[in-house]
Amino acid sequence: MTLRTLQWAVFLTFCTLPGSGEPMTAGACTAPVSVYTHFEQAYSEPLLENMKEEVRSIMAPIGLELQWRTLDAHAPTGLSSELAVVSFKGKCRMDDLLLPSVNSGNLGWSYALEGHVSPFSDVDCDRVRQFINPSVLHAKWVDRDAILGRALGRVLAHELYHIFADSKRHARVGLAKAFFSPRDLVSDHFTLEERDAETLRNGKLHGVLEQAASFPSCP
Ligand SMILES: [Zn+2]
Repeated sequence: MTLRTLQWAVFLTFCTLPGSGEPMTAGACTAPVSVYTHFEQAYSEPLLENMKEEVRSIMAPIGLELQWRTLDAHAPTGLSSELAVVSFKGKCRMDDLLLPSVNSGNLGWSYALEGHVSPFSDVDCDRVRQFINPSVLHAKWVDRDAILGRALGRVLAHELYHIFADSKRHARVGLAKAFFSPRDLVSDHFTLEERDAETLRNGKLHGVLEQAASFPSCP
């Protein structure tokens, strides 16, 4: 296999975590599906907004709207039907021109708990930016952060797929595939395959999505 044909992995690493959290419900209206984020190091706001927009765009076909909350300043608050907790490792900014080249490794991973996929994921910003750096070298600085945000959104969406589908399954194509290329992460368009959308609709979010469809006027 040549370097050109190498593909990169978004592996799931399954570890055992102590304890478990029960999903909460909110009566007649659907409580939000929340994503709690924690950044180990500084990040740019444009990057964060691009990452959120990319996840929103990927999940739009199933009618999923996420509420984003930070763990950086507060303990988890509010009511959530389902949640995910994501820790971003390393530096989430594209302000280095020269980065070490990497050709393998985990871009993101989730954890298994008592036979299910837990709501906890990690995303490795250092590895993702090293991974896409050759593809963004000629972009403007402001665009480089936006592109990294898009790439992180796709890695995060992959982990959210595992969490909300409660599935360790990988596919050959689409959001569920185990190996992403740099092009997969930086290309202009990324589409949720119908098969992956159906898996998500039948997973942990099944009740939430049905309730949201029944009460479209709920906040
Ligand atoms: Zn995976």
